Order: sequence, then C-alpha cells, then structure tokens
Amino acid sequence: MSIWRDIKGTIEPFWITLRNMFRPVATVEYPEVRTELAPRYRGRLILTRDPDGQERCVACYLCSAACPVDCISMQSTEAENGRRYAAWFRINFSRCIFCGLCTEACPTLAIQVTGDFEMANRNPLETVWEKEELLVDHCGQEPDYNFYHHAGIGVTAARGESPGEDKPVDVKDLMP
Ligand code: SF4
Ligand code: SF4
Repeated sequence: MSIWRDIKGTIEPFWITLRNMFRPVATVEYPEVRTELAPRYRGRLILTRDPDGQERCVACYLCSAACPVDCISMQSTEAENGRRYAAWFRINFSRCIFCGLCTEACPTLAIQVTGDFEMANRNPLETVWEKEELLVDHCGQEPDYNFYHHAGIGVTAARGESPGEDKPVDVKDLMP
C-alpha cells in the first residue's frame, strides 16, 4: 500500500509541472512589463496646490489625527494675511499602509493619493518624506477646488473694516 502512495507522490509533482508548462504565463516581468493599475489604486501621497497655485494644506492636523499608524506630522503656522500653512510637513512612508484615510479627512483636498508605488528603499530614513518632496505644482485629481474661495482666511481687520463688511451696529442705539 505504501509503495503505491510513494509512486503516486513521486509522479504527481512531475505531472503538475508538465500540465502547467502549457498554460498561459501568469507572472509579469516587472519592471520591463507593467500592468495597468486600478483607477482607485492608492499609492504615494502628495500635497497639492489650489488652482491659484497656492498650497492647499492649512495644517489643520486632521490627516494626522485620522492616520491609524501615526505616520504624518507637521507644524502649523500663519502667513501675514492670516492664511494657515504647514511650516513643515512630514510623512513616514515606511509606516504608511496606504489606507487613504488621511485623504478622506482632509477638508481642503490637499493630500491626495497617486498611482506611484515605486518607493522601496533599503534606508528607512529615506522613506521619510518632507514637505519639499511631497508638495507638487498641480491640483492633482481636483483641478477646480479652491478651499480659500469658501473659507479659511483668518480675520485680521477690525470689525466692520473688512472689504464689503458693514459697520457693527451699536446695540445701545436700539434701547428705548
Ligand atoms: S494612507 Fe493611511 S497610513 Fe498612510 S498616511 Fe494616510 S492615513 Fe496614514
Ligand atoms: S487634513 Fe489636509 S489641510 Fe489638514 S493638515 Fe492634513 S493635508 Fe493639510
């Protein structure tokens, strides 16, 4: 009984090899051959600009709060016109799991995913990307959205002094 089992165990692998030799090849010879990625593939993250060419990121920390692996860090600061931006912005791609939660949390659509997955690096320190490397010169997947056309500029003028703003009402004038 055991001799038949041994013969079968010897022949079967050869049969499997022979059978698969005539099947279509399933492997892809990357990097010479590249398959098409899914349209919603989540790869390397970028920081985009609005249609006016300004940085979209307002350093609100929502992306870092949403990140399940805590790989986003930044320092917020403010321009003279009250516009917030990140003094520095850092993503540790050696920890990133490309879940896309940061992009979902971002109110200004600043942080976006790309189809780039070629980021492997033997040096873990080089997988930490700074703002200069993350910030791109285009709007990414949202060419029309401009957060600052809706909200975001801090109030720097006194009440009633902003362009188009009425003077405040003296409520005591309304008293009988
Ligand atoms: S894709 Fe996920 S893991 Fe990567 S930075 Fe964004 S929230 Fe964090
Ligand atoms: S959520 Fe968006 S706007 Fe806020 S800090 Fe992150 S990238 Fe910047």
